[in-house]
Amino acid sequence: MMSSASMTSREACVGRDLVDPLRSFRDRFVIPDGIIYLDGNSLGPMPRAAADVLNHTIEREWGQDLIRSWNSAGWFDMPVRLGDRLGALIGAAPGQTLVCDTTSINLYKAIHAAIGLRPDRNVVIAEDQSFPTDLYIIEGAMKSAGRPMKRRLIGTDGPSIEALIDRNVAVAVLSHVNYRTGELLDMAAITKQLHDVGALVVWDLCHSIGVVEIAFDDHAVDFAVGCTYKYLNGGPGSPAFISIAKAHQATAQHPLSGWWGHAAPFAFDRDFRPDAGIKRFLCGTQPIISTRGVEVALDAMEGVEVVALRRKSLALTELFMARVNALLPGLDIVTPREPLQRGSQVGISFDNGYAVVQAMIERGVIGDFRAPDLMRFGFAPLYVRFGDVWDAAEILAECINAEVWRDPRYNRKLEVT
Ligand SMILES: *Cc1c(COP(=O)(O)O)cnc(C)c1O
Repeated sequence: MMSSASMTSREACVGRDLVDPLRSFRDRFVIPDGIIYLDGNSLGPMPRAAADVLNHTIEREWGQDLIRSWNSAGWFDMPVRLGDRLGALIGAAPGQTLVCDTTSINLYKAIHAAIGLRPDRNVVIAEDQSFPTDLYIIEGAMKSAGRPMKRRLIGTDGPSIEALIDRNVAVAVLSHVNYRTGELLDMAAITKQLHDVGALVVWDLCHSIGVVEIAFDDHAVDFAVGCTYKYLNGGPGSPAFISIAKAHQATAQHPLSGWWGHAAPFAFDRDFRPDAGIKRFLCGTQPIISTRGVEVALDAMEGVEVVALRRKSLALTELFMARVNALLPGLDIVTPREPLQRGSQVGISFDNGYAVVQAMIERGVIGDFRAPDLMRFGFAPLYVRFGDVWDAAEILAECINAEVWRDPRYNRKLEVT
């Protein structure tokens, strides 16, 4: 891997960009002039082809072909077809992944199914630092489990997952990359630890798909879910994905047994009979226009290897942390320096972080802020350049050295931060 040690000037970074094997991919996205976009971990930019393809979907498929498009434009098969394509990014063989619904809904389906597959167990493990929807959905899935369930939180009920694992555990719901710190968990080791006591795992891949290598099949992962609007660039609110290992498909039940999950949806039977395979995890009619956004996004990644994304991502985050350390020694970077332990974002804990992020946005560097004090910067290897990283660190230092938080206009809280 190219280390940041050789990138000690802006010129060296720009030179590195000229030989970057991924440099051609940036052109496949719309990045507004003058913007350094470090928030692709929250909402990826628009693929350049999106406007034309979505316009075609609206004008032609919906406008002219009308209901025929369910067949002629392949609308009905999109969750499965795109699921198979997306599955390749996480090492899941075809027939195990659907593009559908939202991450929150897919979490509910997966957790409920996992609890049902372990009827003699009553514990769900989660992380107290988890993204809140994961915790909230676990609460809901436990309430609807049909038997009393208990939650054990890593960080609250025990210091580590090892301390909480025993034969009462039905399932653990874990974020592959933590949305705040960017910490990457060891999927292989943890999945094995859980399997060794007979427990299942649901991996939330929201912050790792598209930037970290994932081996769903090789690690015998049971369930995975994640977004398509972050590093996959599917567009605001684009449907999520769910993966279920082949081994569980015949027995896993999910609670939202809608007609798209029926073995014969167009038989219009009175009673629910689940599809034998992955389609049982569908519920109902999907948002086709948004789903088209996922297809455009997968097209924009065509030809890229996840291993190359990961390599560049690590080099970008390494460079950013090195520059921040050099310019602002003492600043509290919460992201692990060890490459095997971090995803594609860098979090910095700073009391006046909100104002600093606002001031940086005004200067063209878009990151985001998570209460109470975390500045987050995501480094998407498809379009972020090493030169951008250099400039972003300079602008961060400029804002902090100028104490921008003294200016009240940077402290006005927006609804979405
Ligand atoms: C972004 C994110 C979600 C989002 O869930 P939605 O249902 O799309 O709102 C869920 N979990 C994690 C870990 C996330 O990072």
